[in-house]
Amino acid sequence: MCIKSRYKAVKQTIIANINQYDIGHTVDLLAVSKKQSVAKIIQLYNLGHRKFAESYVQEAIAKIESLATLAIEWHFIGPIQSNKTKYIAQYFSWVQSVDSLKLLTRLNNQRAASGQKLNVLLQLKVGDEASKRGLSAEDLLLLTGKHQQFQHLNIRGLMSIPAPTTDTDKQMRQFSMCRDIFKRMQKIIPVDTLSMGMSNDLEAAIASGTTMVRVGTDLFGSRDHVQC
Ligand SMILES: *Cc1c(COP(=O)(O)O)cnc(C)c1O
Repeated sequence: MCIKSRYKAVKQTIIANINQYDIGHTVDLLAVSKKQSVAKIIQLYNLGHRKFAESYVQEAIAKIESLATLAIEWHFIGPIQSNKTKYIAQYFSWVQSVDSLKLLTRLNNQRAASGQKLNVLLQLKVGDEASKRGLSAEDLLLLTGKHQQFQHLNIRGLMSIPAPTTDTDKQMRQFSMCRDIFKRMQKIIPVDTLSMGMSNDLEAAIASGTTMVRVGTDLFGSRDHVQC
């Protein structure tokens, strides 16, 4: 299958699930282009898609520079080393994987040079055996409360990467926990973005009220293969 039909299928799945679960809002589709070629990004762009995400700073910069003439909204979603924050502040419109006060502080200072605020999602740690990345619910809410310290950032919500599982009930439990924390966040500041759901757990994420799904494999094909 090539990108045009994959794109159509993913969009149809999103709409079908929005209808099935009677979700009263739209769901944004973020195309995760990490380890995918520039040619594939251009193909999707030419089909009208504008929101793309990368996970590795070096790879991302090369792609962003070579696609600089296109009106792409770039999201950073990978693990962040503090010595890379200046590049994230310089090249991206959004960063979804922020999980410490130190990173918020660095990004805020390094974004000052730009006329536009950097959109930020705080990454919530989910599930016991999940990665070490992400904030506890308590710390996430604590950092949200400090939003006034970050005048060059716009804290938009939370992002989560639950432990991969094919057990739909477990997917739903993890996502509904994320939604609950998101709702608590909304009592502190008017955040609008709940980023959860990938190729393998899209349906559970939409059923649980996600506002943004991050899809790589289902849009571009496997990252192990160079060709579509
Ligand atoms: C790679 C990645 C995705 C996309 O995963 P697929 O299974 O290919 O859809 C989504 N979110 C994050 C944070 C990722 O690193």
